[in-house]
Amino acid sequence: MNPRRAPPAPDSPNPPGSPDPPEAALVRLAGLDAGPIERAFRVEAPGESLGALPLPFGYVDIEVEIRRADGAAIRARGALDAEAIVECRRCLEPTRVGVRTRWAALYRPPGRITPGEEGVWALDADSGELDLAGPIREELWVNAPAWVECSRDCPGLCPTCGVRLAEQACGCPPPEPDARWAALEGLGGSSEGASEGASEDVREGDIP
Ligand SMILES: [Zn+2]
Ligand SMILES: [Zn+2]
Repeated sequence: MNPRRAPPAPDSPNPPGSPDPPEAALVRLAGLDAGPIERAFRVEAPGESLGALPLPFGYVDIEVEIRRADGAAIRARGALDAEAIVECRRCLEPTRVGVRTRWAALYRPPGRITPGEEGVWALDADSGELDLAGPIREELWVNAPAWVECSRDCPGLCPTCGVRLAEQACGCPPPEPDARWAALEGLGGSSEGASEGASEDVREGDIP
């Protein structure tokens, strides 16, 4: 689905020597002294221009309002709307995943950033552009689902014949009970034999 291409290293949207630097998330700051700058734009193939992302997003729509803050700081805030197609973890059907959120970020010159301060990004005052890649990438990581299901009650695939159980029933008998559960049931009834084995194989220090 997604081309196997190494994502660009995070924090280097313009790799040196690149003939066509990705400028997908750069906003020019000309006119900022006259008032806030508002932009709305789409980043296609964000995995190539924003750095490594949690899902193979096809695009990210970004809305941003940029204004001057105290001192040499610049405040950016807005919304983002991204979409990816990912396999359902149960039935493997391609499933649309949307991430929509509001976001905010503060930019300061590198010398004025307190280590450990969250939501603050370095601003190269000479560049004349604001790079939104960092905060946008961070929001996508924070808001992307850890797993994807096509529906909350997706029945998945039959473990025996592999049909999609949402589409058709199969005649397979119910799966054998898991051997691990059978072992646990044994623990409950006769503790003697089980504890012997446990003392050999598992010592407390081995359990993380
Ligand atoms: Zn599914
Ligand atoms: Zn089956």
